[in-house]
Amino acid sequence: MNQDGNTMIQRRKSKAIQIGNVGVGGNAPITVQSMTKTDTRDATATIRQIHELEDCGCEIIRCAVPDMEAAQALQTIKKGIHIPLIADIHFDYRLALAALKSGVDGLRLNPGNISEPDKVKAVVLAAKERQVPIRIGVNFGSLPQDLDPGLSIPQKMTEAAMRHIRILENLDFDLIKVSLKAFDVPTTIQAYREIAEKIPYPLHIGITEAGTLKQGTIRSAVGIGILLNEGLGDTLRVSLTAHPREEVYAGYQILKSLNLRQYGATLVSCPTCGRSQMDTAALARAVEEYLAGVDKPIKVAVMGCVVNGPGEAKDADIGVACGPGKAILFKKGEKIKVIEEADILSELKKEIEEM
Ligand code: SF4
Repeated sequence: MNQDGNTMIQRRKSKAIQIGNVGVGGNAPITVQSMTKTDTRDATATIRQIHELEDCGCEIIRCAVPDMEAAQALQTIKKGIHIPLIADIHFDYRLALAALKSGVDGLRLNPGNISEPDKVKAVVLAAKERQVPIRIGVNFGSLPQDLDPGLSIPQKMTEAAMRHIRILENLDFDLIKVSLKAFDVPTTIQAYREIAEKIPYPLHIGITEAGTLKQGTIRSAVGIGILLNEGLGDTLRVSLTAHPREEVYAGYQILKSLNLRQYGATLVSCPTCGRSQMDTAALARAVEEYLAGVDKPIKVAVMGCVVNGPGEAKDADIGVACGPGKAILFKKGEKIKVIEEADILSELKKEIEEM
């Protein structure tokens, strides 16, 4: 238990690896990563998108590498960004070698999908030479056909991952990270539970093809949240059919909800009810927008009434409780002053800037 009486999450002990200058596993914080949605061959557009993601806290970025032109563009991309770069490669070992040559910090690659052992060996040796980790990423949709039909889906996913892991281990390579993703949340959770018992490597967690902004965020929050609460997960990606900045935002919100990371400001806002006499929802949205650019780890409350507002948001560092035409500014549940409706947002901003 921590001092607030909450149960502390005991994280699974995993092997520490480095993706560029970012630690994953061991005692490193659980990192938030995303994937670019630009054409990787267009280095300028890809760098621009990565900068946007860096600005909102993305800690590791992955780019799809569909062909040689994309693998070579990674060199320019790597030089133009500040966070570790992972190349996402399927099947073609030449793309993996080219991506390594371009200076990537990590590979996402399933060695069992490369048909010839010599080609796998060439990739693994090149990764080892550069100390570049490989993520084995098993997805429910692409399981091998020859797995024991008696196994459950999570067991099949685990066995598929173990096949890839054994290939790397047999080549004396242990800079491994593993993900086992499905759209179905209980399947994903069970798969991670199974593999966590079998390997020491860090886990990259997420729910695959989770959906559009609303549905995908909820599915991901449930799946990733349960895993994190069980101590599983060293890095995460929320996969959304939306701009990748939404993935980063959701990732941090999930971690903040479980007190696993502190990142930026947090908005506490009441749902409003019949007691509210102002457009509190519009105010909350405006405050949320402003807080997106605030990097102080503070809690800011926007409450719909002066009767219950400050009391309900006692643990907020600062907040407003709105009444007819006015709002009370409060700090830690204590009333400080009364503000006119037109000045609420600017007064709140001023106070936060001074904090
Ligand atoms: Fe209703 Fe006031 Fe509570 Fe908001 S703070 S939900 S307006 S009682």
